Amino acid sequence: MNARDSKLLRHKAFIGGEWVEAARGGSFEVLDPATGLAIAHVADCSAEDAERAIEAAQASFVVWRATLARERARLLRRWHELIMEHKDDLGDLLAREQGKPLAEARAEIVYGAAFVEWFAEEARRVYGDLIDAPAPGREILVMKQPVGVVAAITPWNFPNAMITRKIAPALAAGCAAIVKPAEETPLSALALGALAQEAGFPRGLVNILPTTRAAEVGRVLTSHPLVRKVSFTGSTEVGRTIMRQSAETIKSLSLELGGNAPFIVFDDADLDAVVAGAVASKYRNSGQTCVCANRFYVQAGIYEAFAEKLAAAVRALKVGAAFEPGTQQGPLITPEAVAKVESLVNDAVDKGAKLRLGGARHARGGNFFEPTVLADVPADARLLTEEIFGPVAALVRFETETEVIGLANASEAGLAAYFYTKDLARAFRVARAIEAGIVGVNQAVISTVEAPFGGVKQSGLGREGARHGIDEYLEVKAVHIGGL
Ligand code: ADP
Repeated sequence: MNARDSKLLRHKAFIGGEWVEAARGGSFEVLDPATGLAIAHVADCSAEDAERAIEAAQASFVVWRATLARERARLLRRWHELIMEHKDDLGDLLAREQGKPLAEARAEIVYGAAFVEWFAEEARRVYGDLIDAPAPGREILVMKQPVGVVAAITPWNFPNAMITRKIAPALAAGCAAIVKPAEETPLSALALGALAQEAGFPRGLVNILPTTRAAEVGRVLTSHPLVRKVSFTGSTEVGRTIMRQSAETIKSLSLELGGNAPFIVFDDADLDAVVAGAVASKYRNSGQTCVCANRFYVQAGIYEAFAEKLAAAVRALKVGAAFEPGTQQGPLITPEAVAKVESLVNDAVDKGAKLRLGGARHARGGNFFEPTVLADVPADARLLTEEIFGPVAALVRFETETEVIGLANASEAGLAAYFYTKDLARAFRVARAIEAGIVGVNQAVISTVEAPFGGVKQSGLGREGARHGIDEYLEVKAVHIGGL
C-alpha cells in the first residue's frame, strides 16, 4: 500500500482510545475486489472485544454527555477538517478496499465529511420546549438528552459515509459510539478512527471493531444492557435479526435496509435528462447502493426511445479497476455478489426478458460484470422483487399513471423512488401517492446531508442526515415543576 497512507492505514482495533490486537489474537485479510489479492491484514475482534468497547464507551459517555454543545461542536469541526485534509488518501484507501472508481471514492469522502460538518453545526441547535401546564402554579419543560452508548453496524458499499452519518450525530448529541464495519471494508473505518483520535475526542468515545465474526459481535452489541441504541445499515434480513435481538433490552433502533426503487419514465419526460438520471441512479457504485433504481417503468410512448438511448449511454461506460484512468464501473464487491447478479439476469432472460446490452460476467474476469440493460422484463422475474445490487437495468412497459403507481407500490420495500415528468400536477400527485421515504422528481441524485434519508415499510426505521438525524440519538424528558 501507498506509503502516504501509513498514518491512516491501521491494522489493529481501536478500543478505549488504544490501538489493540484482538482479544483472541488473529487477523483477517482485506481483499482488493478488482484482483482478489490481499491488501492488508486486520485484527479479528470477538465478543470479548465488543464487551470491552462497550465498557470503555460507557465510561466515556458519562463524561461526554456533560460537555458543552460548543465543545462537542469544536471537536467535530476538527475531525471534519482532518478528514478534508486527508481526503485524497482516504479516497485511495476506500477505492482500494471497495473497488469503486477513484473519483467516486473521493466524492464519498467529501460526502461523508459533510455529515461531520453538518452535525457539528446541529450540536448547538438542540432545543427543548416550555409547555403551558394544565393547572396554575406549574410549568412543563421538555429536555433533550443523549440516549447513551450507540452501536453502529455498517455496510461495505459506502465504507466511510455510512459511518459518519451515524457517528457524527451520535457524538453531537452527547453519545459514545462503537462501530462494527463490514468485514470487506474495515480500513476506511479504522482510518476514520485514527483521525477521530487526532481530533482529540476523549478516550473510548469512538471505538472500532473490525471482525469477521459479525453474528457474534453483533449479538453482544444488540443484547448488552449498556448499549441503548443500535443504528444499522444493511440487508433487510440482518436488520430483522438485529431488531429481534434488540427486543430483549428494548433498544432504540435506526434501520436503513434494502430498497427496490422504482424509476418511472412518463411519456412527457425530457429524454436526455431521464437517460442521464437513469445512468446516474442505476450505475453509481456499479449498482451497489440501496437507492439505485431497481425497476424501470417506462410509459409506452417513450419506451423504445428510452431503451435505445439508455443502452447507448450504458455501452459507453468504461469498466475498469478503481485506479485505471477514466474508470466509471468498478468490480462488484465479492464473487458471491457476481453470482447473485448473474442468477438474477439468467432468471429474467429465461422468463422472456430481452437483452439489449451485456448480461454476463465481464471478459476481465474476477468480480467484474458487464453493464446490462434488459427490456420487456416479465412480471415474475425475480429482479423486480429482489434488490439487484449490480449494474443491471430492468425495463418494464406501462400505459397509465394509475397502473404504474400500483406497480411501484407493490413492494414491501419503500426506500427511494424516482419519476420523470414535465407535468406539474402529476409531479405533486405521484410524489404524494408513492410509498417511499425519498422521492426524486426529475432528479436522480437524492443522497445529500441536507435532506432526511430513510425508508418506509420494510426498508427501515428512522432518518439520517438533515435536522432529523440528530433526533435519533436524543431522548425526550418531560420535567414537571409544581408549587410555583
Ligand atoms: P450486505 O448485503 O450489504 O453485505 P449485510 O446486512 O450482510 O448487508 O451487512 C451489513 C452489516 O451487517 C455488515 O457490517 C455485516 O458484517 C453486518 N452483519 C451481518 N450479519 C450480522 C449479524 N447477524 N449481526 C450483526 N451484524 C451483522
